[in-house]
Amino acid sequence: MTADSREMLQEQARVLQWNLRPFVDGAYRDSASEGLMATVNPATGEKLADMAVGSAEDAERAVAAARLAFEDGRWSSLGAGTRRALLLAMADAIVDHAEELALLDCLEVGKPISQARFEARVLAPAFARFCAETIDKLYGVVGNTEPGVLALSRPEARGVVAAIAPWNFPLANAVIKVLPALAAGNCVVLKPSEMSSASALKLAEIALAIGIPAGVFNVVPGLGSTVGAALAVHPDIDFLSFTGATQTGLRLMALRGNSTIRPLLLECGGKSPSIVFDDIENIAGIAERICADALWNQGQLCVARTRLIVHERVVPALLEAVREQMDSFTPADPLDSNTGFGVLAGRTHWQRVTAMVAEGVSAGARLVGGVLPLDEGGCAMAPAVLETEDSTNPLWCEEVFGPVIAMRRFATREEAFQLANDSGYGLAATVWTRDLDTAHQAARVVRAGEVIIRSVPDDREGAGFSLPQEAMGGSGFGVETGIEGIRSYMSWKKAEFHTAV
Ligand code: NAD
Repeated sequence: MTADSREMLQEQARVLQWNLRPFVDGAYRDSASEGLMATVNPATGEKLADMAVGSAEDAERAVAAARLAFEDGRWSSLGAGTRRALLLAMADAIVDHAEELALLDCLEVGKPISQARFEARVLAPAFARFCAETIDKLYGVVGNTEPGVLALSRPEARGVVAAIAPWNFPLANAVIKVLPALAAGNCVVLKPSEMSSASALKLAEIALAIGIPAGVFNVVPGLGSTVGAALAVHPDIDFLSFTGATQTGLRLMALRGNSTIRPLLLECGGKSPSIVFDDIENIAGIAERICADALWNQGQLCVARTRLIVHERVVPALLEAVREQMDSFTPADPLDSNTGFGVLAGRTHWQRVTAMVAEGVSAGARLVGGVLPLDEGGCAMAPAVLETEDSTNPLWCEEVFGPVIAMRRFATREEAFQLANDSGYGLAATVWTRDLDTAHQAARVVRAGEVIIRSVPDDREGAGFSLPQEAMGGSGFGVETGIEGIRSYMSWKKAEFHTAV
């Protein structure tokens, strides 16, 4: 039995500790609610653990702990160097616990263990380090004033931040929500998705163990309708940071707007395009990249490029190349380290995705690659590519959040950009062209928070999380990346000193 064998991973899974209770003020606490829900492994249907459904009272206790921690300055008053060192230690500790964190995510949402490991070993620590390194660079500004007057504005922590996260990247989403808020000096209450709370709770345990004071980072598992809604309307929450579906974002804006005037940041759904012009070379390489961009994490990715917009001259060759890719996206056991494509995160989600495909097909969408979903009773779903000419087909205009690509063809550049912008969302886009004019035009006119222009299907790193970007339309608002992303969790305060010269 090698260290990475399936038997060894199964044994590790068998002895995993599950503690799905609120982590508040530095310890696991019993939920005020007695209600429980089962956490189920979507790959096997087996129950992993019971989780507290949570309650408004749990949220209340966590907000009180975070408020106390913020007001007594146990975190916000620490020097920048000390907070930086603690967040760097946090990054190292995530790496030290990567195997356990990856296993929790793999079991809870059916993510391939190799990808869960990448998120725990590379992605989450890299983002934590970026946040740590910004802390001593969050400069203020000094005004140009006459002698005897010193006027300055400096960014200050907002106070208590509530973060509400989805399930698709459980650990990475928790890190992306919590670390910028901590870097900015806030105290946090995180509500992870009810489908994936374990790694977020473990993260709070890790934070305490490396020296982040109790009460600074609290986690309340539970349902959105109870814990999430209680956080959204809580008057003691200074900033609400949400990632999830557009419909939930709308609901949170209404809830919060009816109860308090406080800022919020919304990272919502997407329906992002890949546009393929007819000047491309290396169609096989491009098809591989197009599939990876649409189908990573079984298509459960906010920036998944699930609308494929192809020049009519390239359609036959590209479709042929895409079909050849489909074998590498066969659902397999997430707990096998050779698996690259796992299962959908839950049976209810599987049913939702399948129903959308059926609706799209009955509205006229035609299968041109992959297969239509087969119900084998679990959560496995192989990818499908469907063509439509109809902008109102749900597969074209609604976020499916599964391995489903909707294709349209175009004849002119204007038509391509019009199709790209034929969406209520505005998260991301990729444009495949070797033409400089088209590239610049695309970067300007395609409505999305990030537009990636590619003339070659390379694997070189981009800027990752280091640059700011902001969603458009129904995909949300507020900046979550780059130094500007840390500043989202801060407000400006001006001070003037008028003294004798
Ligand atoms: P979701 O909106 O159903 O749930 C997200 C979170 O909101 C969960 O913690 C949930 O419990 C909570 N919630 C649900 N109803 C609530 C309510 N009434 N009040 C308060 N909280 C509530 O989304 P999901 O299914 O977990 O995640 C998938 C969605 O997330 C997709 O739309 C995807 O595009 C989006 N997403 C966006 C980004 C981004 O950066 N833009 C990143 C990841 C996922």
